[in-house]
Amino acid sequence: MPLEDYRLKRKFTETQEPAGRPRRNRKRPIFVVQKHAASRLHYDFRLEMQGVLKSWAVPKGIPLALSEKRLAVATEDHPVDYLKFEGTIPKDQYGGGTVMVWDIGTYQVLDGNYYKGKLTISLDGKKLKGEWTLVKAASQGEKNWLIIKTGAAAPLPRKSQDDSSALTNRSMEQIAKENKAAWESNRVL
Ligand code: MN
Repeated sequence: MPLEDYRLKRKFTETQEPAGRPRRNRKRPIFVVQKHAASRLHYDFRLEMQGVLKSWAVPKGIPLALSEKRLAVATEDHPVDYLKFEGTIPKDQYGGGTVMVWDIGTYQVLDGNYYKGKLTISLDGKKLKGEWTLVKAASQGEKNWLIIKTGAAAPLPRKSQDDSSALTNRSMEQIAKENKAAWESNRVL
């Protein structure tokens, strides 16, 4: 059942995250990178696909230098509404901590396919632009993938952009302080 794992992990009376529902595919699918200050800071990379968001947790963030590889651990599919989720998850809930929409935009598959465990994509975000490859690292256990910068090096986002939401320009500290989820009111897509 789509999104079953997602729903089982969360109490929607406690968290402001969307319960969501599967959606139909759109012509230009969306990607998002969410900076997530949970028990450990990481970046969640999500690709809209088949009505849900295929998701990975990338502990060290998206690589920018050509051929640079980063571990990307596959996590449960998330609802498409999650694309715009920015806010705080209560500390005692699954994934408790602050979530920022660090980057968002559209993407295209250039080669390969998620289900085959290797795909090359082109991102057109506010910060990230260009080609990346995701590849399942078979020898490292089922959930481990690598995200690799392919094509060419990506320009480094300016320092000020690292702690600034692509949706609201808020810093992690501001998001945490305001404690208000933004996904319902944001109409950027
Ligand atoms: Mn996360």
